[in-house]
Amino acid sequence: MIGSPNFSRAEILRASLPATPAQVERYASNIQHTTAILERVRAILGKPIVLESFVRTPEENRSLANASATSDHLSGLAVDVRVPGMPADEIMERLAPHVRALGIDQLIRNGPNVVHIGAGRRARGELLVASAAGGYIPYRMGTVAPIVADATRAAKAPASGAGAGSAQSLGPWPVASVAFVFALAILAVILSRGSYVTVP
Ligand SMILES: [Zn+2]
Repeated sequence: MIGSPNFSRAEILRASLPATPAQVERYASNIQHTTAILERVRAILGKPIVLESFVRTPEENRSLANASATSDHLSGLAVDVRVPGMPADEIMERLAPHVRALGIDQLIRNGPNVVHIGAGRRARGELLVASAAGGYIPYRMGTVAPIVADATRAAKAPASGAGAGSAQSLGPWPVASVAFVFALAILAVILSRGSYVTVP
């Protein structure tokens, strides 16, 4: 039997279509291993997790561009997830310190909102991102945090330059320029990432 407190059997079967329930149940022990990790990931992120793709049949896997012939999805040891209200970069940043303790083999940024959680027994704790040229490259950490830090510094700079007590006098323009820089930074990150594949 498959399923855990926050990931029902029905949910797992739905994310595994077109695999039949019998095809899915064949990998019950692997699926239970993966959902145990998912439960811990859910606790760390503090938000519900939506299962996008779990078990794949060999036929389905062959039909997907960029899917590995030996994908852990074939045996229930990988799941693609999204977390409503949390972009993939934030999921990557927040899980990165825990990948080894969680027993994650590969955490892959599949796209702006989807992350692949590989629960292969090698548990290498790899952080990857799909490369525009094909294949996967190491995920570059700090994508989220530095942008926030720079925006904070920029917002504080005019206040410290004008002396204490003048922070209240900041008009809408400094705020607007910080927002503009922030938007440019996000755009730069998106452009630098190139195109994504959705199914490693
Ligand atoms: Zn995947």
